[in-house]
Amino acid sequence: MDFLSKELQHYVEVHTSEESALLKKINRETHAHVLMSRMLSGQVQGRFLSMISKMIKPKTILEIGTYTGYSAICLAEGLQSGGKLITIDINEELENRARNYFKESEFASQIDYRIGDARKIITSLSETFDLVFIDADKENYSLYFDFVIDKVPSGGIILADNVLWSGKVVDPKPDKDTQAILSFNEKIQHDTRVENLLLPLRDGVMMVRVK
Ligand code: SAH
Ligand code: CA
Repeated sequence: MDFLSKELQHYVEVHTSEESALLKKINRETHAHVLMSRMLSGQVQGRFLSMISKMIKPKTILEIGTYTGYSAICLAEGLQSGGKLITIDINEELENRARNYFKESEFASQIDYRIGDARKIITSLSETFDLVFIDADKENYSLYFDFVIDKVPSGGIILADNVLWSGKVVDPKPDKDTQAILSFNEKIQHDTRVENLLLPLRDGVMMVRVK
């Protein structure tokens, strides 16, 4: 669901930097060949992820929910030279496609793509992360936050996508996924270890800064 009118959305798009040729291709091919293509971040949110990453200049990034690799490549644009991005997805059917896009990108040697359940993989990671993007199954958002918070140093940023859940967060009778998003947002709001901003970009991005 779009919170902006078509006209305003278009205005935003034409006043936001263009995607690279590779990102355009991923965007196009995902919409043509992959189920649930609206999950792909797209130009405006992609430029936001890139901008944030370029501001932080992270040495390490963790992404939970690769899908076809679009957002991973956007995030990788801000990596320090020699920096590394770990991205995790449980869907092995997307593996070949995402892996080929990563190979084609200028970040091939910096992207560590892991297939499996994020709940298992994250707990096995020993790295710390300057930037984390949570964008996988909504019911585990709170769990992912608990898993990563101790791996993010002071000043590090955690972004969580789709926290307005198509506007369903204000539904009088929230469904199961909406309830999970609601408790995640509540949890962040009351966690004294962090500062947070719910940015109404696209489907809502919770920006969390570790104090
Ligand atoms: N970040 C992508 C979109 C991610 S869509 C972009 O912006 O373009 C959400 C992804 O989370 C899907 O590809 C799905 O397979 C993955 N996912 C769902 N549950 C998961 C889990 N338990 N562990 C890892 N990935 C999971
Ligand atoms: Ca998303």
